[in-house]
Amino acid sequence: MSMSRDLIFLPEACHVPPGPQMTTKIIHFMVNGRVERAEFGADSTAEDIKELFRAAAEVSPHHILKLYKANGSVVNISPMLEPNSQDSYYRLEVVTSDVQSITMPSNVDNMEHRVSHLETKVLEEAGKTSEVISDLQSQVESFKRKLESIKHLSWMGIFRDENTKQISKSKGTQLNMEEEHRQVRRKFLNMSSLQVTEEVRDHLKTPIFDNWQWEEAEMLVLLQVMFTDLDFLTAFQIKKDVLQNFLFEVYCHYNNIPFHNFQHCFCVTQMMYGLIWLTDLKSKLCSMDLLIMLTSALCHDLDHPGYNNVYQINARTELALRYNDISPLENHHCAVAFGILAKEESNILKHLTTEQYKQFRAGMIKCILATDMARHNEILNKFKSILSIFDFRNKDHKEVLMKIMVKVSDISNEARPMAVAEPWLDCLLQEFFNQSDKEKLKGLPVAPFMDRDKVSKPSSQTSFIRFVLLPLFTELTRLFPCLEQHIVEPVRRALEYYSDLERATQQRETACKP
Ligand code: 5GP
Ligand code: MN
Repeated sequence: MSMSRDLIFLPEACHVPPGPQMTTKIIHFMVNGRVERAEFGADSTAEDIKELFRAAAEVSPHHILKLYKANGSVVNISPMLEPNSQDSYYRLEVVTSDVQSITMPSNVDNMEHRVSHLETKVLEEAGKTSEVISDLQSQVESFKRKLESIKHLSWMGIFRDENTKQISKSKGTQLNMEEEHRQVRRKFLNMSSLQVTEEVRDHLKTPIFDNWQWEEAEMLVLLQVMFTDLDFLTAFQIKKDVLQNFLFEVYCHYNNIPFHNFQHCFCVTQMMYGLIWLTDLKSKLCSMDLLIMLTSALCHDLDHPGYNNVYQINARTELALRYNDISPLENHHCAVAFGILAKEESNILKHLTTEQYKQFRAGMIKCILATDMARHNEILNKFKSILSIFDFRNKDHKEVLMKIMVKVSDISNEARPMAVAEPWLDCLLQEFFNQSDKEKLKGLPVAPFMDRDKVSKPSSQTSFIRFVLLPLFTELTRLFPCLEQHIVEPVRRALEYYSDLERATQQRETACKP
């Protein structure tokens, strides 16, 4: 590959001679020590551009690529990429490496076979006329458009069957979902044989990790890294394929809703993972306690329907009936988790002794049930009462700490950089508004903090940070002073940011009054 190679991707326009009507973008990026120039059509898809980058980096479709700006921030690989000059190039990095092909010589033969197979395919494709290819492309485009419109309809709730409860998905959605899940599984398994780079593994241990840059299959790989790097596979004799099945099942049991989705599950688990490393918890608690905490974070919102406990109780849903109005959602999340663990192929607890299983189950139930915010004060007050005499060898103390750590991780979005945290608030408000709209329609009570006519982003955050986040985070920081900079300081900055916004809004409103 030469230094000045041009990479061109003009999918729709490939049979049209370049002219003024065709808009293309030119970007420059550094990969493997070379600066490359790429040109792509305005109608290229994110997948097209990723493919182009993969070609430049000379890696397979399974490798994970990340694109960085000159200032080091990650940029989404999408058609929205801003054009740049040769002097202000992006940096393209491959964040997984194919260790198996280096350490296992037998794979070389396999790779040669794959290359020759690919070569044959390329020759076959090249023989086809451009008409056939463009026809195929338009078919694919039309199919994509149909898929998007179906996705849109399901997002708007058109496919929701009110009478067969919120928990189950209706048939139309189910079919799309199954195909999407199959694709994610395929991608996850293909990528999981790759080695995630040291840099990413380290980054994963910090609260500044940006979830928005990762696809679902990639997040599954990262979750696998967390379980592996905490030595759970050896400590509990968990086979890699069983862990993969378990993680995939967890992914499948999160719903496609604005906030309580798989991305939220990933963020909570990643924050828990970060807290474990930042506080050096490995030296203070046993592997079983850490397994309970990480798995609780992972499972804590399984099959969340997008409507909270108050709604469940007021609307007298199946969940509220089943659990007698006592933390219906949290009971359900935990029951779904043990349903997944009851299946042979996804049972990561297979090799635990009966005593260990009992300990794990009791711990998970306590940690997941502790995420019901109605119990927030009860749990925080208990933690406060033992702080001055806290002893890591005391079983009761440990138990409260584990609940607090899961709770902190659960509501930790504002501890992340503003660019990561703010979109989460939009997602949360969207879910709140969906609920309050439905409550208004059904004539049920509406909580003011969920009401689109009463709440704004700043008003929502200033009270939540003042009365919930800071009191909780500062108590945990008493036990682990090192957390001050990682979770308390960013939350104080967020409070300042939203207080300024709130003041500005109030001033504007006062000025407008006659
Ligand atoms: P979860 O439902 O995720 O298990 O429990 C956390 C609850 O805390 C959320 O449902 C939501 O009500 C609240 N919460 C979490 N993060 C935020 C936030 O950033 N702002 C506000 N206003 N509420 C939050
Ligand atoms: Mn949650």
